[in-house]
Amino acid sequence: MKITNKNLQGFIIKIIGALVIAWSLSGCSADDVEGFFDLTPSLRTPPNDISAVPIYSSDGGAADDESKTEETVIPEEAENAPTDEAALYKTPDISSFTNYSNMWVKKYTGEYEKNEKTAYLTFDDGPSENTEAILKILKDNNVKATFFVLPDNGETCARRLRAVAEEGHVIGVHSYTHNYLTVYADENAFIDDFARAYDIIVNATNKKPWLYRFPGGSVNQYNRGCRDKIKEALDKRGFEYYDWNVDSDDWRGLSAEKLCENVAADASRFNNPVILMHDTDTRDNTVAALDKIIKDLKDQGYKFAPLTQQTEPIQYGVNW
Ligand SMILES: [Zn+2]
Repeated sequence: MKITNKNLQGFIIKIIGALVIAWSLSGCSADDVEGFFDLTPSLRTPPNDISAVPIYSSDGGAADDESKTEETVIPEEAENAPTDEAALYKTPDISSFTNYSNMWVKKYTGEYEKNEKTAYLTFDDGPSENTEAILKILKDNNVKATFFVLPDNGETCARRLRAVAEEGHVIGVHSYTHNYLTVYADENAFIDDFARAYDIIVNATNKKPWLYRFPGGSVNQYNRGCRDKIKEALDKRGFEYYDWNVDSDDWRGLSAEKLCENVAADASRFNNPVILMHDTDTRDNTVAALDKIIKDLKDQGYKFAPLTQQTEPIQYGVNW
């Protein structure tokens, strides 16, 4: 018997519905039910093959849904449910978008990876004159990282973005203006700014970003009135945001030695440190410290990975 995505979704919805009814009959509160729908980790199923995360074309079309689902066999029993990775990615309600109709991504709804001692290096505000040096150090150490970029329309920027992507690093949206008063005027202003950065990334790399980082972090004094609306608007389009749990403090202009000490000490408190650093023209000490930062963390037993849709986000005010 063959199924379509719709059939499979219907099947999963029925299973979830049955579980919710059973649960509610057993006396759980409304909050519990809400938590249930909030995709509690215990109910998520991880994909077997992370490399199977779909890549999307810049026109907003998802790759090859038809060919993937044609051969899938419908399970007779819940316990025989196939690990159909496509079913873990939810397509947004595209018809609800009044603007930027191609700016969306399928949202991952499966379980987050459980990674032992994995560090996530993140570089904000690039690309810059230091991007090439950062890429060289990452390559020499066989480390993949994540870049939350602040792109412009120039060819130099496009070339650097392509270099980042071609080296296998992940690119997320940070901002176009990085001007707090502009981007946090309201959620529409944020989306407009986001879209400008997003388009540059897509045009330069031919890859659609699926993640972003708020300028100044998700909780800051400028976005109090609109942060929830921004999150909601981008969540509807499938985007995920990442804050950080380790700040290298490189933006303070500290020495390279001090940066190494900061990161080694702070990261050691976490199984999955998400480390904030900066890729800007003036942050030479970040470049000077990077090789030792990586080697110190390797000595502590960490491996490195870029953020993926299976990486549980650090989100201020949510789980941090
Ligand atoms: Zn920034």
